[in-house]
Amino acid sequence: MTQPYMKPLPQRLPENEPFWEGLERGEFLIPKCTSCGHWNWVPYPACRNCLSTDQEWAKTTGKGKIFSYTVVHRGPGAFREDVPYVLAMVEFPERPRTPIVLGTMVDVDPETVHTGMPVKVVCEEVPDEGVTIWHFAPDK
Ligand SMILES: [Zn+2]
Repeated sequence: MTQPYMKPLPQRLPENEPFWEGLERGEFLIPKCTSCGHWNWVPYPACRNCLSTDQEWAKTTGKGKIFSYTVVHRGPGAFREDVPYVLAMVEFPERPRTPIVLGTMVDVDPETVHTGMPVKVVCEEVPDEGVTIWHFAPDK
């Protein structure tokens, strides 16, 4: 018998549904303004550059470099069994308006993590919860 998933899960809503469907395909989508071309992460109803509401979910490379990170030694709740783990801010290469995406690192020794480290999005389908979430892993 599988254990219930005890970590917080995202809320699937009509306005973010394309994002979750993208993750199910292994694609990391970010709203891109169709008026000025700026990427808008975190998603917001209007472009932060020109305030246009004309945005489309556009595919990213799913790769980036660590902008900043922290090593968590006392994780809350169900994260307690994962310590030590890395929570990273990852700078994507998409321009202009650089997306910086927060995520936990997997498949890595926290001692080896450093700023500028190349990483990629990896997807995890959460059993019995109907959602796929993302993490980051070293991009070797
Ligand atoms: Zn815009």
